[in-house]
Amino acid sequence: MTFITIPKNHPRAKSLKVRETISQSFSDGVVVSSGLIAHGRGEAFDYILGEKTLPVTMTAIRAAVAELLLYKSVISVNGNVAALQCKNIITLANLTNSQIEINLFYRTEHRIQKIHELFKKYTDNNILGTDKKYLVKIPELQSLRRFADKRGIIKSDVVFIPLEDGDRAESLVNIGKRVLTVDLNPLSRTSKMSNITIVDNIMRAIPVMILECRKMKQLPINDLKKILSDFDNENQLNLILDHISTRLISLSNK
Ligand code: ATP
Ligand code: MG
Repeated sequence: MTFITIPKNHPRAKSLKVRETISQSFSDGVVVSSGLIAHGRGEAFDYILGEKTLPVTMTAIRAAVAELLLYKSVISVNGNVAALQCKNIITLANLTNSQIEINLFYRTEHRIQKIHELFKKYTDNNILGTDKKYLVKIPELQSLRRFADKRGIIKSDVVFIPLEDGDRAESLVNIGKRVLTVDLNPLSRTSKMSNITIVDNIMRAIPVMILECRKMKQLPINDLKKILSDFDNENQLNLILDHISTRLISLSNK
């Protein structure tokens, strides 16, 4: 596949660059066609939000980091997450002592291999979800994502599932996991089902989580627990919807 050069001063250069990355990953076999559609849905919500990490979202980011620092955690990655944030996911996993597990809706051994290779370029850490002999089925879930690694998601207290489908978020909650997500759509089932929803673009959210994590690592356990107990996801999503409503009204008055 050939790509046009995006001029630096193009008003949508940043967003087009990300699109180019995800298209390239589609050609490489890391991302599937439905991943491209999901990305487009995310972009539409980002336009509406204003393409910035909202001040209110920092509350969710800090609560999610507190969970990762306090409890046994797994970061579950799919093709889009691998394509867009591979290196930063490794940094976040190292800072929070979390495991990384590959979990795919459209699971083929070839894709698992491709994503595994991508992570292995940047880390010696063991990447879970790749070896069939450790995979077990999560009850209730029908798709191929029902497989989870005995050493990872199954044993964990907390599962961080950026850019995930609603069914899987729900089934993880049903088997007693604390679920964290990044999803630009505050109305998605994933956003509503999760315990902590970061409504932000993954391109901004993971780097900000890393910065916060570096600061929060010094905090005493009780302070981290307080950050968590003060967080309410329903309220968080309502505040995001309030922001969207106010923003759209102010734009329409111009
Ligand atoms: P649900 O199943 O939770 O109701 P959905 O069916 O609309 O959601 P899926 O394709 O299952 O969507 O999940 C992908 C989600 O990821 C979408 O809600 C989309 O807005 C979000 N998304 C896509 N790209 C990004 C991105 N770069 N950053 C953050 N979120 C994104
Ligand atoms: Mg879905």
